[in-house]
Amino acid sequence: MKKNELLRNLPKMDVMLNEKKVMELREKFSEELIYISMKESIDYFREKALREEIISFSKDDIFNKFYDLVKNKNTPNLRRVINATGAILHTNLGRALLSKEALESVLQVSMGYSNLEFNLKDGSRGSRYDHVEKLLMDLTGSEGAVVVNNNAAAVLLVLNTLCKDKEGVVSRGELVEIGGSFRIPEVMSYSGVKLVEVGTTNRTHLKDYENALGENTGALLKVHTSNYKILGFTKEVNIEELVKLGEEKNIPVISDIGSGTLIDFSKYGLRFEPTVQSYVEKGVDIVTFSGDKLLGGPQGGIIVGKKKWIEKIKNNQLTRALRVDKMTLAALEATLKSYQDEERAIKDIPTLSMMTSSKEIHKKRGEKLKRSLKSKLNNFNIELCEDYSVVGGGAMPEEKIETYVIKVKSDLYSSCQIEGKLRNNKIPIITRIYKDYVIMDLRTIMDGDFPVIVEAFMEIEGEKM
Ligand SMILES: *Cc1c(COP(=O)(O)O)cnc(C)c1O
Repeated sequence: MKKNELLRNLPKMDVMLNEKKVMELREKFSEELIYISMKESIDYFREKALREEIISFSKDDIFNKFYDLVKNKNTPNLRRVINATGAILHTNLGRALLSKEALESVLQVSMGYSNLEFNLKDGSRGSRYDHVEKLLMDLTGSEGAVVVNNNAAAVLLVLNTLCKDKEGVVSRGELVEIGGSFRIPEVMSYSGVKLVEVGTTNRTHLKDYENALGENTGALLKVHTSNYKILGFTKEVNIEELVKLGEEKNIPVISDIGSGTLIDFSKYGLRFEPTVQSYVEKGVDIVTFSGDKLLGGPQGGIIVGKKKWIEKIKNNQLTRALRVDKMTLAALEATLKSYQDEERAIKDIPTLSMMTSSKEIHKKRGEKLKRSLKSKLNNFNIELCEDYSVVGGGAMPEEKIETYVIKVKSDLYSSCQIEGKLRNNKIPIITRIYKDYVIMDLRTIMDGDFPVIVEAFMEIEGEKM
């Protein structure tokens, strides 16, 4: 068809709105949504016709476009996905999952009013930080604690409070970048701290720190190289030596430990990672870590340490700008309470149970998923194999946790096509590709996800039948 003819054939709004299929949707959705979506879909085809990008269309095409728009407008942009990648703390997929206890607490505190900043004992004004401070002190052995929006904010705030207009000394081997936007040199300059680099990329000695100290030194900063490892001819100054130096020269020592764990993972067959408590015990002035990495709680930046610094931090104006919401505090308090009993923490906190569960469990679960898939599909090659999961989120970069994965291949589609179709499923399923296979790691898939996965594959197969 010619352009003008196509434009003439565009249906009128009122005609389309009275189509039977549209009328049915009008009962479910608001008039406004129906009207806007119909207008957008007719406009869509008008534009296409004007640009001569189409040579024909049918009423059904317009209806389908309309239907997609209505559906999209009713689907939240931010929504649940199934993480089949095997990366437990997948930063792009929201890092740590909250425990049931944490969720319950968020619900209670958010659906109704709360004593967020209200002292129930005497009816006076309270502080939002009080709800978790004592818990954090008990769990880490620190003299005080504050929580802010994330660990990046925590580092910024700590540097700004302890070291503004002074020099912060950091090893060249620890000038990290995390996730593209957190870079130590930039964070230091935003906090008003002059960065003084010492040592080299691979080797830093105590004398390098000593030589850098001067009248204007504000703090010694140690940063956990969370997401990389320097191997070979290396030397770093450990935290004990740094604390000793700080004490001698009366300079506070700050340690950004990134992930921050309260339990010793080596007990569970994983890599040893020093606990937050051990840093506090060694006398570090201030320790900062994330709430949603190994801790397994909500996004947050946790600051623990010596009372005099914590008080200064609480009084910094910046703290107000970085303050956490009641939902964060509710989820964090519940998560921390689980840690009062380590066994309970391992069971209740999804990050911890995912990290510590045995591969045999995932083998059994994998067999079940494989059976369901095989019973419903004819054109997919489905295997269960051993593989490795990773912790992710920049934590324990070298740790490989033995797991089981489902490997899928088909003559109907390439692995890239399958990956894309799963990603565009109603409940998106995020997988990875290895060689010609689509890989789904049982460790990060939940039991409740199994039927969704099976149904998604059935739909994919159905498209070709
Ligand atoms: C992850 C990490 C950060 C940033 O923490 P967020 O909670 O993501 O803001 C900072 N420092 C280190 C060492 C980290 O590993």
